[in-house]
Amino acid sequence: MDTPLTRVLGPKTAKVMAEQLALHTVRDLLRHYPRRYARRGEMTRLDGLEVGDRVTVLAQVKSVSTRRMQQRRGTLTEVTVGDGAGSMRLVFFNNRHAHLDVGEWGLFAGTVGLWRGDKQFTHPDCHIITGDDDDWARAMVPLYPASKDVSSWVVQKSVKLLMDDAHSLEQLLDDPIPAPVRERHGLVDLATALRQKHRPETQEQVDEADERLKWDEALVLQATLAARRRAAALEPGIARPPRSGGLLDAVDAALPFSLTDGQREVGEELAAELAREQPMNRLLQGEVGSGKTVVALRAMAQVVDAGGQAALLAPTEVLAAQHARSLAAILGPLGRAGELDGDPTGTRVVLLTGSQKAAVRREARAAVADGSAGIVVGTHALLQEGVEFADLGLVVVDEQHRFGVEQRDALRAKGTKPPHVLVMTATPIPRTVAMTVYGDLETSTLRQLPAGRGGVSSSVVPVGEKPAWLDRAWARVREEVAAGRQAYVVCPRIGDLDDGGSGKDDDGPDGADGAPPPEEEKAGASDKRPPLAVLDVAEGLRAGPLSALRVEVLHGRIPPEEKEARMRAFAAAEIDVLVATTVVEVGVDVPNATVMVVMDADRFGVSQLHQLRGRVARGKHAGLCLLVTEAPSTSPTGQRLAAVASTTDGFALARLDLETRREGDVLGAAQSGRRSNVKLLSLLHDEALIAEARVEATALVEQGRGLADHPELAAAVAALALDERATYLEKA
Ligand code: ADP
Ligand code: MG
Repeated sequence: MDTPLTRVLGPKTAKVMAEQLALHTVRDLLRHYPRRYARRGEMTRLDGLEVGDRVTVLAQVKSVSTRRMQQRRGTLTEVTVGDGAGSMRLVFFNNRHAHLDVGEWGLFAGTVGLWRGDKQFTHPDCHIITGDDDDWARAMVPLYPASKDVSSWVVQKSVKLLMDDAHSLEQLLDDPIPAPVRERHGLVDLATALRQKHRPETQEQVDEADERLKWDEALVLQATLAARRRAAALEPGIARPPRSGGLLDAVDAALPFSLTDGQREVGEELAAELAREQPMNRLLQGEVGSGKTVVALRAMAQVVDAGGQAALLAPTEVLAAQHARSLAAILGPLGRAGELDGDPTGTRVVLLTGSQKAAVRREARAAVADGSAGIVVGTHALLQEGVEFADLGLVVVDEQHRFGVEQRDALRAKGTKPPHVLVMTATPIPRTVAMTVYGDLETSTLRQLPAGRGGVSSSVVPVGEKPAWLDRAWARVREEVAAGRQAYVVCPRIGDLDDGGSGKDDDGPDGADGAPPPEEEKAGASDKRPPLAVLDVAEGLRAGPLSALRVEVLHGRIPPEEKEARMRAFAAAEIDVLVATTVVEVGVDVPNATVMVVMDADRFGVSQLHQLRGRVARGKHAGLCLLVTEAPSTSPTGQRLAAVASTTDGFALARLDLETRREGDVLGAAQSGRRSNVKLLSLLHDEALIAEARVEATALVEQGRGLADHPELAAAVAALALDERATYLEKA
């Protein structure tokens, strides 16, 4: 399976396949599955094609005519092909085409163009199906993902070569699914599945193959995760049992509110796990504003009481600084042990970020190293920077949707013994994602919001259709400010010195859940104007509808100290309106802010919008979120925004998000590297299969000698781990 393609195919073919399709080995090619199948007599409806589609069609040549062109030198050949449902014109200049005869069937691949109102292909690639080529006489012709120089039929020929040549495909292939598992779930063996996938006779064979090949993907992934869980369980950490009369009790006494039932339950769960030697590996999901920070703080306090240190990692510096500030506020003198007014029974809270002045940073690092800082707050960079801890007992990762296994591994390497780990996210995670991306974590959920929240209502402002609504939006902002409240205006881009409008703010949460809009929409968006920018919008508002208000900007290019000062000023209500990038996306907590206007809302992903909206649902006042867009309300984008506006049910939105993303985006780098393991499996549709695979994988790993009893599966798991490692190293 690892045989390089250069040894089985022609050198030129192997080279372009490697370059353009990232197919390097026999395995890669066998796992390069057809996207769909063309059938004779029941072919693609040519009628349904859209201009700009790149497609391969199976059709019959209806007419061929060549004539001299009048305006230019040379000839023009027009070929009409049809499939019974529609017809289409192929155009070739100067006889640059294979000889086509009326009545022949062929595959024609090209980009659909429009000429005088009719759809046509100019210079498509043609592959005529000759009668003696049994390959093409098949009932179903596989159509492969292709590239410029590797057409679908080149792939088909190459696959066929492999299948015929290695006539004992069975011997070449080690089936990673143990026979008893196959039998229990009625799965065909691997060789059969690959034959049926690449060269099917019927749709039933394709379905059977798909089921089996999805199982491959799910089982290998789940076995990998089960092996991790087992390894983690075998590597003891340090028990951090609660102690009365310590920091935790003091925190509880200092809290200005009583815990919700959910916070109390999850708190007990965490307390019990921290008290065990086996390191906790837990994911805490809770709606925006459900009060996860307090839960984390209480866990950190327990660890400090037991003599350890706790680190809280935030995705952005703004958020790290805010956490440090709010922890310090809750702890009061308890957070300043060692200082003049500090309580000697407490600890120190230090902030460590990349942009601090060298002296501040040195001092903070020293406090972390000598253990006087019990609570360390920083960004994820903290892990990469070789910060030394005296005794790291707990790591809390805040608002990170994709804190993958590699990062958690890096963490475990931090202490002499692996620390307890708590990952927190406000983006509800569908069960399938929890079982895959987070398959090695246990999960807790905070379902309840603290009582007395005003709630948030959302509306779409379709400026194309209702331009006046935007004026109304600014009027609402003025009304809220007049009532003593504050507002955010969020834009996709900083502006001015931007690098050609890539729209990225470096200090935005690094891919926390920045779901890009679906591919085809992105393509459309790029021909439109660039996304609105913070600097331009702020200027327009100051000069126009919000001229009477105190308007400030916040984005990643502002120096950290200034950024921090502005956040503080906003929190202190010295700023009325903050025009910002997604730096305010996660966690920013200013309960007095009640309106958010999101400009070019269509440029944000579903989860991102949900997160953003969470910024104005944090106090007792009712919040309002306005999603401004030029997208027509009937377009898919408009409907996506309407869906976001219509519900605050995070789980429903997470599902919507999943529908609009590709699997790779969800799974993150590890499982979606170039040589992705996940090709057929759908996190949206294969929940039952993934759950069954999880049960089987866990049993395989935990019974007998574990994976050692299943060398084929073990090899597949090792190959996946190698890929992950490679992707991780590339990224690092
Ligand atoms: P998130 O889960 O989104 O991180 P936070 O932890 O930031 O939420 O909490 C949101 C707000 O709710 C904060 O201002 C916090 O002080 C407050 N809060 C947390 N728990 C409670 C509670 N039990 N009762 C009242 N307010 C609470
Ligand atoms: Mg939070």
